[in-house]
Amino acid sequence: MKLREKTKPVKIGNLSLGGNNTVLIQSMCDVKTSNIDEVIKEINACAKAGAALMRVSILDKEDAIAIKKIKEKTSIPLVGDIHFSDELALLAIENGIDKIRINPINTPKNKLISIIEKAKKHNVAIRIGLNEGSTTPEGKNITSIKGLVDLALKSVSFFESYKFYNIVISVKSSSPLKTIKIYEKLAKKTKYPLHIGVTESGFDDIGIIRSTIGLSKLLMDGIGNTIRVSLTKDPLLEVITAKRILHDLNLYPNYPTIISCPTCGRCEVDNLKEIAQNITKYLENNNINIKIAIMGCIVNGIGESKNADIGIAGANKKFIIFKNKKIIKTVEENYLYDELIKEINKLSILNK
Ligand code: SF4
Repeated sequence: MKLREKTKPVKIGNLSLGGNNTVLIQSMCDVKTSNIDEVIKEINACAKAGAALMRVSILDKEDAIAIKKIKEKTSIPLVGDIHFSDELALLAIENGIDKIRINPINTPKNKLISIIEKAKKHNVAIRIGLNEGSTTPEGKNITSIKGLVDLALKSVSFFESYKFYNIVISVKSSSPLKTIKIYEKLAKKTKYPLHIGVTESGFDDIGIIRSTIGLSKLLMDGIGNTIRVSLTKDPLLEVITAKRILHDLNLYPNYPTIISCPTCGRCEVDNLKEIAQNITKYLENNNINIKIAIMGCIVNGIGESKNADIGIAGANKKFIIFKNKKIIKTVEENYLYDELIKEINKLSILNK
């Protein structure tokens, strides 16, 4: 793993992005922003799960005005996603948005200038966010890596010419390999923080796999200051997936490590898959930073269990429970979940 690429720190509300800061997780609400109560619920659920900032769409005046009320009942910085309009950007800023995401391909220069001036006055950050699929108002789009990177850098120079430096950049593709090439190029040419992600990556496992391919290579090379896993699914799953990716790259330490065997014909218990799923949920929901091994028999069960804080290995319809490398008890399948939770809680209290 390389050291993080040095980037300029950028202020977004009470957060600092880039510089020496850890990689921040973000997601985006999937309901219209003027549905204030629903948006607040989503933001707070994602924040509780680990999102450092959340993006909302600003489609009309109702959305822009809603920011004020949403900010009263949420505590993480909000990013307003605005296309085509400077009026809505100005209104969102007046209502307390912390960062604006604009796409230079669909926002004319004169409108950009008014957004820049207002953002400067209110200390609001701007993400210059290009997507491979975005089109100009005339319907043209840029798809080459060079074309996208050049346009992003040209936009940065334009912002700098108006003495605006509170900039974050993203240039996303729906192809993980293209995403990697784009960001590698960008990282060589700019010191502004990068928001990385594979855009429109798909639903469930398809999106998770694509995002993991695109994000892992970049993060291992020290590229990327904030990530979004863009899934056709609940934003909460985006946050959980982002945490899992960062954790396995040693970039999100305070999180459970779960080892579980796939099971095979040797498995000596019936409910291993269910146990693995329920224990994972419990540890993730409660952010318990322990390593646990959930194994179907003693073939690899003893070794994995001894290498974990807590481990279980199936044996003749029962589970052997290991803790701190030692067998502490043997439990019937039906009582295993409750026993395990007891041991996990004891350990997590000791670790606090
Ligand atoms: S630990 Fe045992 S049950 Fe699990 S995959 Fe390995 S051999 Fe099969």
